[in-house]
Amino acid sequence: MRLFGTNGVRGVINQDLTPELALRMGRAIGRIYGGTVALATDTRCSADMMLSAASAGIRSAGASVRYIGMVPTPALQYYVKSHIDVSGGVMITASHNPPQFNGIKCVSADGTEAGRAEEEDIEKAYAEDLPCVPAEETGAYSTASGAGEDYIDAVVSCIDAAAVRKARLTVCLDCANGASCRTSPLLLKNLGVRAITLNSDPQGEFPGRLSEPVEENLKELMSLTRHSGADLGIAHDGDADRCVFVTGKGEFVSGDKSLALIAGYILDAEKGTVVTPVSTSSLVEDVVRSHGGAIEYTAVGSPVVSRRMLETKAVFGGEENGGLIFPAMQHCRDGAMSIAKMLEFVAVNGPLDKAVRTLPAYYIEKRKVECSDKDKEAIAATLEKRASAVEICKIDGLKLIFDDSWVLLRPSGTEPIYKIFAESRDASIAKARADEYVALVRTILTDCHSQ
Ligand code: MG
Repeated sequence: MRLFGTNGVRGVINQDLTPELALRMGRAIGRIYGGTVALATDTRCSADMMLSAASAGIRSAGASVRYIGMVPTPALQYYVKSHIDVSGGVMITASHNPPQFNGIKCVSADGTEAGRAEEEDIEKAYAEDLPCVPAEETGAYSTASGAGEDYIDAVVSCIDAAAVRKARLTVCLDCANGASCRTSPLLLKNLGVRAITLNSDPQGEFPGRLSEPVEENLKELMSLTRHSGADLGIAHDGDADRCVFVTGKGEFVSGDKSLALIAGYILDAEKGTVVTPVSTSSLVEDVVRSHGGAIEYTAVGSPVVSRRMLETKAVFGGEENGGLIFPAMQHCRDGAMSIAKMLEFVAVNGPLDKAVRTLPAYYIEKRKVECSDKDKEAIAATLEKRASAVEICKIDGLKLIFDDSWVLLRPSGTEPIYKIFAESRDASIAKARADEYVALVRTILTDCHSQ
């Protein structure tokens, strides 16, 4: 039985994700982790209900629960990593999904997102429908305060805070009324940064704006940043493991651009490897190589990136969606750490819009073709036979690398679609490649169905 998707268990509350499921899953988590499990939530109105159900399940397996409050996912991860008496963590969040969703994300004892092997152990225990432990073995319940403050202190200690304080910056901060509403304003205060906040009320209507930090959801932040004269704008997703930026001129900075800028900045201080999934723009590879670093590609999904970073002792890594991973702090996507490092970058290098303009231009076309799960296998097999390119990479799906472009063809793990990304330094080539492969996938689908 597969419960976990690419990022925890997610679903519509009281429909896919019921308190009964959370209770039974809690019991499975309690059995696998044992000891004391730290729990945290974001600001969704279903948070308390899911917390109660998951806690009851964990305790009924004999493990203890320590609730550390409403904090970002990376704050829980930092708590688990830095408390040796904690055996694992559970975050109640659906990250960037709409308000009717919630989810359960598991954290390993070292603070990283649970890997697939650990998830399979929990799924197996869930399928067994475990009995409760005897009354006298029921796990304890406690709460702990200060997790958010400790997390922010750790973030500040990982950067050149004096340089940021000296720069006397002003920023606009948009927390999507999510889990960062207390910690990110506190971070800015501790760094002497003047903050103009919007959607930063934990009691406010969730999410204030749609939680996914993409350009179309950040028009208000872009306008406020431009008109207020702030140095930059900052936006999180719902659980603040991700963070994207807006220049002082109000321009949205895509996640691969901030990934590239921070990668170059970190490599200037320390040479090493930068890890990112195969779906990331070649822009990142260009910048990494020009700053004397090595690039390492992985399959899509932040737990895979984090684990590969640990294996290669990478100096930096992350995803193109604003999920940046700083080994100096911890091996997981970290929204507050992303803010802190970007502030340091701006304090040292000057305005963000100028830095963005130094980057080479790339154009990416993202398309999808609807298909059933059964079709996905047939499409993958035929594509592999028919594909020809200068280089073929099979880390995740099929990446065809040409002299002037690349095309990534991947079946979605969660939706009935085949994803087709095409990138080039020439917009017309990216579009032509995308058109070509959308047509090819459609032809393969037609052939499958006519057989
Ligand atoms: Mg998230």
